[in-house]
This record gives sequence, structure tokens and C-alpha cells, in this order.
Amino acid sequence: MIRSAYTQLPPAFFFSRLTDAVSRYAENHPDRRLLRLGVGDVKGPLAPAVIEALHRAAEEQSRPETFHGYQPETGTDFLKAAVAAYYRQRNVTLSAGEIFISCGAADDLGAIGNLFSADARVLVTEPAYPAYADVSRMAGRPILHLAGNRENGFLPLPTADTDADLVFLCSPNNPTGAAYTRSQLRKWVDWANARQAVILFDAAYEAFIRDAEVPHSIYELPGAKACAIEISSLSKTAGFTGMRLGYTAVPEALVRDGCSLRDMWTRDRTTRTNGVSYMLQRAGEAALSPEGLRFSRERIADFQENGRILSETLRKAGVRFTGGRNAPYLWLPCPDGQSGWTFFDRLLEEAQIVVTPGEGFGEGGEGHVRLSCFGSREDTEEAAGRLLTFFKKRV
Ligand code: PLP
Repeated sequence: MIRSAYTQLPPAFFFSRLTDAVSRYAENHPDRRLLRLGVGDVKGPLAPAVIEALHRAAEEQSRPETFHGYQPETGTDFLKAAVAAYYRQRNVTLSAGEIFISCGAADDLGAIGNLFSADARVLVTEPAYPAYADVSRMAGRPILHLAGNRENGFLPLPTADTDADLVFLCSPNNPTGAAYTRSQLRKWVDWANARQAVILFDAAYEAFIRDAEVPHSIYELPGAKACAIEISSLSKTAGFTGMRLGYTAVPEALVRDGCSLRDMWTRDRTTRTNGVSYMLQRAGEAALSPEGLRFSRERIADFQENGRILSETLRKAGVRFTGGRNAPYLWLPCPDGQSGWTFFDRLLEEAQIVVTPGEGFGEGGEGHVRLSCFGSREDTEEAAGRLLTFFKKRV
């Protein structure tokens, strides 16, 4: 009766083990200041334009003549227009029918698999955001792994032997901070079109990109509309982790087995959801307005400066790493071949710095840790000083 794949899932103990270890340490050492570079969450506040939009929308709901009930399941025209305008900045044209408003990237990453058969083979490029492999396991799909590693700069590319029906790509990447250049990503697009595979492109961190050769959207590449679904989020871009709003693009040109995936996804969404709240969509529209985007860019610049500070520190310490430039994460190997957990314990004990062990991100994550740039400037600067002392002591 039940879907047995759920009983075979690896236990989700990773984050509870992490939180428990940090709480235990904090309880036993109340006098020591912990610096948390493990966080994947952003700090507020939201943009004033977003707050004003929320107030206005709340006011509208207070009067029968301006009240809004059910909204279109795939999103309101005004928010789709704002998303389309955002894409146009990258010279990407998407119609309203190709844009789907969601409650965040996690929801759509979890649900997009509804479109594919249970035997569709899923390729996960790892280390990766753990949901890609987990949702595929839940659906009982065969999973293939392609390893990111030091040799390929944590940006694995398809080879003549790479064979799969679906592939999850995340660029800029969580956890490695690495980002595909246009020419690298083109190899994936060409591969998918040649194989009739579908790329599930997670663009949650596109707003952090600094280098011109790194595309913000996979649709900047010719041919991508025929092979890719792009899943995006306002979580990290506009501080919406607690608001819950994202958008997914399924282009009209994406057809498999003679079926339009755009039409199938429309059918799926209009059946399984009743859309996102009106107030939230007004907030999203404000986040994508010139004032909202200006505010977000300033917040992101703060995180980018944290990335620069941490990168500089690791360079001074002679530690090789990826990330910190086009993504709010840095990824480094643990010294002396230690596991991520051992190094996590050592940094906690010796420097009171919290990092995320790479073991939480699937194959190839072991023996690494992730540093986040979402901490405060004060914490980041202090952590940088402590990291330098820690690494210098070891030399
Ligand atoms: N994709 C990646 C790579 C992420 O790191 C996260 C959140 O950390 C998500 C998706 C989920 O984003 P959302 O908050 O929009 O559900």
C-alpha cells in the first residue's frame, strides 16, 4: 500500500546531528562566543518596498470592493510580468504561459518529478543540495551520480558515456560555490538536446553571480529552451526564506515523447495547488521592482564582501578552495585527510567556528566543509581572524 521507497531513504539525521553538536557545545561553554559560518539562511529585514506592498495588499483585503479571493493557480499576471521583465535583463524572453509562480524552489524541485516516469534515470551532480537525490529516491527512480572534485573544479561535465533522462544542475552551486561558465554549461545543453534528456536547472543563487562569463539563466544559451526547466527563488535573492516565493520556467519548446512539458506542468499545478497568496505575490512584485532590486543588490553586496574576506583569509592560509565569488559559499578540503565531521568538531573546539560538514551533500562531499557568507560582517571578520590563526598554528 505505501510507497516502499520511503522506507529505504537514508535517515535525515544530518542537520539534527549538527544542531545537537552546536547546542551541546554552547551549553557546556557559555563563556565562548560561537561564530556561525554554517548558516544557509539570510538575515532580514525585507526591502521597504516589499513591506509597503504587504501593507497595501493587507489593506485591500480589508474591504469587500478590493478583496482578492482565489488567484490563478500558476501565478498572477502582475507577478509573471515582473518575472518576465527580470529575465529580459538577461536578454531571455519568456511568456506568461511559460512562467509558474511557486512557494519556493524546494516545492518545485520536489514536485517537478511528477512529469516523468518512475523509471526515468536521474543524474545527480554531487556534492549537491540533498533534495535532488532524496526526491528522486522517494519517487523510486534510479539515481546515477556524477562527481564534482578538485580535478574538475567541482563542475562536472558530461562525457560520451554520460547517459540519463534527467539531470539536476545547480549553478552557482550549493555547497561548492562553483559556477559553470557559458561554455561549460553549453556542453550540458548540447548533451541534453542530443540525448533528449531534460535538465532541471536550479538557479537559486543566480543573483550572487559577479563574473560576466557565468550565465544567470540557462536560457542565455542557445538551445536551452528545448531541454531545460529552470527553478528559481526569491529566498536568497530578496531575503524571502521565511516568506516563501519562487518561480519556475517551463518553455513552450520543451517537448518530450510528443508532449509539451509546459502544458503538463500547467495541468499538474492547476490540479495540485490553488496558487500562492495574493499578498505574497504583491510582495514578490515589489521585490522585483527597481527599488526592491536595488535593496537586494546592496544586501547581496554585503554577503559578497563576506565572501571576499573569507577567500582572502583562506588564500593567506594557503588553503585551496572553491566558491566565495559567484556564490555565498566557500568549499574547502579538510586538512590531513580528516572527515568533514572531524574537522567540524576541531573547528568548534579550537576556534569556536561552526561550519557545515561536506558529508551532508552526498557523494564527493566527504572530507570537505562548507563556509557560508550569510553571517554578520562582525562575525565573518572575527571568524576570518580565528581561521587564519588556526591554519597558521598547524603549519
Ligand atoms: N536550491 C538550493 C541549491 C538551495 O540551497 C535551497 C535552499 O537553501 C533551495 C533550492 C530551496 O530554496 P527555497 O527557499 O526557495 O525553497
